[in-house]
Amino acid sequence: PVDRSPEIQEARLKLPVLAEEQVIMEAVRENPGIVICGETGSGKTTQVPQFLYEAGYASDGQIIGITEPRRVAAVSMSHRVAKEMNLPPQVVSYQIRYEGNVTSDTKIKFMTDGVLLKEIQKDFLLRRYRVIIIDEAHERSVYTDILIGLLSRIVPLRNKKGMPMKLLIMSATLRVEDFTDNQRLFRTPPPVIKVDSRQFPVTIHFNKRTPMEDYTGEAFHKTCKIHRMLPPGGILVFLTGQAEVHNLCRRLRNAFPFRKNNTTAAEDEDADTSEAMRKFKKAKQKKKAVSLPRIDLDNYSALPVDEGDEDREAGIGDEEDGGSDLDIGDDLADSEEKADPSIPLYVLPLYSLLAPEQQAKVFRPPPPGTRLCVVATNVAETSLTIPGIKYVVDCGRVKKRFYDRVTGVSSFKVTWTSQASANQRAGRAGRTEPGHCYRLYSSAVFGDFSLFSEAEITRRPVEDLVLQMKDLNIDKVVNFPFPTPPSTEALVAAEQLLVSLGALEEPPRTGRNGYAQASLSCPITPLGRAMASFPVTPRYAKMLALGKQQDCLPYVIAVVAAMTVREIFEDLDRPARSEEESTKLTQRRARMTQMRRLWAGQGAALQLGDLMVLLGAVGACEFAGCTPKFCEDNGLRYKAMVEIRKLRGQLTNAVNAVCPEVGVFVDPKMTPPTEHQVVCLRQIVLAGLGDHLARRVQAEDLLDPKWKNGYKTPLMDDPVFIHPNSALFKTLPEFVVYQEVMETTKMYMRGVSAVEAEWIP
Ligand code: ADP
Ligand code: MG
Repeated sequence: PVDRSPEIQEARLKLPVLAEEQVIMEAVRENPGIVICGETGSGKTTQVPQFLYEAGYASDGQIIGITEPRRVAAVSMSHRVAKEMNLPPQVVSYQIRYEGNVTSDTKIKFMTDGVLLKEIQKDFLLRRYRVIIIDEAHERSVYTDILIGLLSRIVPLRNKKGMPMKLLIMSATLRVEDFTDNQRLFRTPPPVIKVDSRQFPVTIHFNKRTPMEDYTGEAFHKTCKIHRMLPPGGILVFLTGQAEVHNLCRRLRNAFPFRKNNTTAAEDEDADTSEAMRKFKKAKQKKKAVSLPRIDLDNYSALPVDEGDEDREAGIGDEEDGGSDLDIGDDLADSEEKADPSIPLYVLPLYSLLAPEQQAKVFRPPPPGTRLCVVATNVAETSLTIPGIKYVVDCGRVKKRFYDRVTGVSSFKVTWTSQASANQRAGRAGRTEPGHCYRLYSSAVFGDFSLFSEAEITRRPVEDLVLQMKDLNIDKVVNFPFPTPPSTEALVAAEQLLVSLGALEEPPRTGRNGYAQASLSCPITPLGRAMASFPVTPRYAKMLALGKQQDCLPYVIAVVAAMTVREIFEDLDRPARSEEESTKLTQRRARMTQMRRLWAGQGAALQLGDLMVLLGAVGACEFAGCTPKFCEDNGLRYKAMVEIRKLRGQLTNAVNAVCPEVGVFVDPKMTPPTEHQVVCLRQIVLAGLGDHLARRVQAEDLLDPKWKNGYKTPLMDDPVFIHPNSALFKTLPEFVVYQEVMETTKMYMRGVSAVEAEWIP
């Protein structure tokens, strides 16, 4: 018996999902698992848990669990459902990684998918739960996919043991074949229930031109125009990140100041200032005060470690938090932004890291006589439904996490979104009445968008993922029922690499010839668990894990940071367009060569090779304050150096989290490593790059002239070479390890470092 207020009851009745309550509950009774598809805003997230509660699925001490890929949804939906049901937060609760309000009285628990995954580690049968709802399954986050795979096994197991459990998968799109037509996942396909959407028509307006750079500016102009010229109705603007959101909010507030008797726009903005923003502002002030800011570890959100895309639970970073907040210029001075006090616009930001009280504002009606304008990240795409939106302004972009297959580093980049996403965004304008969507890009550009966003799992390198799964004690990764599996080759290769790095236990040596079988079920080692917590691929994680020796950690961190950035040197081999430029380029090339030689060091240091050059360059650049001028003068890419600086901060935080006793910090005045330390660094590098070993072809083996000065690697038939730019080009050591091989005019090794024969296992 739920005691809802009349207003709530009335609002519920308008939700399309209410009409399907009986159909849904009957399907739940008769099937171990079902899929529910329904447009954003149809009431899935808020209502389905209530249906289950009222049907008694949270009695007998068991509870209803709902997973969300985003923290913001877990928190805000638990509040909303508690309110609708007139129940306290001790009963309708939430749990995200760092906080929650779950009690022993909890009946409905909203959580991020990462939290449930960790719970599976502790209790595989999830005995506490009577029902699990996987929400926002269309987002295809890695954790959601893995959870669905796990639950496809857990649910039958529970039923067999006489402790029945139900699984509900909810999606905002109809594209659910990966779950339903997948024999490995569900032998009997779960029934799909479609919730009718009561969607009003949305007129799409494309831009003629597509601004490639300043889409925030374009969003500003478009929003101003809508507000000045079009009839009442809320405006929802989609941008890609927190900094952009705040930037646009400020411009709009200056253009259309909103004053209530007791609230000024300024106060209102202060009220909107989350902890994160306060830090951000402080950082900006600092930036003005000192032109060479020291590295402030608090200001670099770590790259997500074990999380999937965007604002996933297990990591700290999220899409609004891709790190480069400090770049946003101050555009208060724009003359066109002169205040227009006649038209009040009630501007609210919305993004994942925003404090919940601030987030809740978007659900309340705007002050009378004002127009609501929400500036959001794609958290408003399907996770949260904002009432009263009639106009959508869509920048067409999304900030996403990318992995570089070559360097293995993860980064956040702004790219075009998919057609499916853009259509979801447009749909936000037609919830209450016919609406309009203004796309800040042309229809031709839209035509080039991919149809759907790919499942995240296919975009990730799998050694990383395999290590994460092993850390969750999922040992037989190949047999795992992925909704969309990575290739078996990719999984085998990942497992072998992880065994060789010591992250997984060696498989037992069986078989006639005594060779290890590719077992694909090796359990994780304690070293593997430490490695799993670093935000770099396992090779580099191994180096970090070994860095404690001989106080090498600051150097290992700097080298790893530099190695994971694609190229630190500017390309000065480009053709010159004029004689003058040609002379300049020649001079700069000479200077770069000179600096490379300097950074490569002398004596023992030389043996660290290209990695010593990286270390020297990072040290020198940081010492000089990491300025554009220093980079320009010395042939370094400024952007790369800034990236390295951030990465050093992030890696330092990650290492301290695993090993607080080492207390490592980023020192801008790092002294060069001692001879001892260089030897130690070379051994650490070998430990990480052991499978990238090459041996110089010996004179007596030189049958073919093409092998002259060449190196033999275990896996390649052809020789590889040390590049003329390499610090080791003249030395040509017998054994080297390399970061990668790149084919240009020849097969060249990059990031070469010499190793001693007796170190090789
Ligand atoms: P779905 O999960 O299908 O996208 P939801 O259950 O999230 O739909 O939302 C259903 C309705 O509840 C929407 O119209 C939305 O505006 C409303 N709603 C959700 N959260 C709140 C809230 N915190 N305050 C007011 N209304 C809300
Ligand atoms: Mg929802």
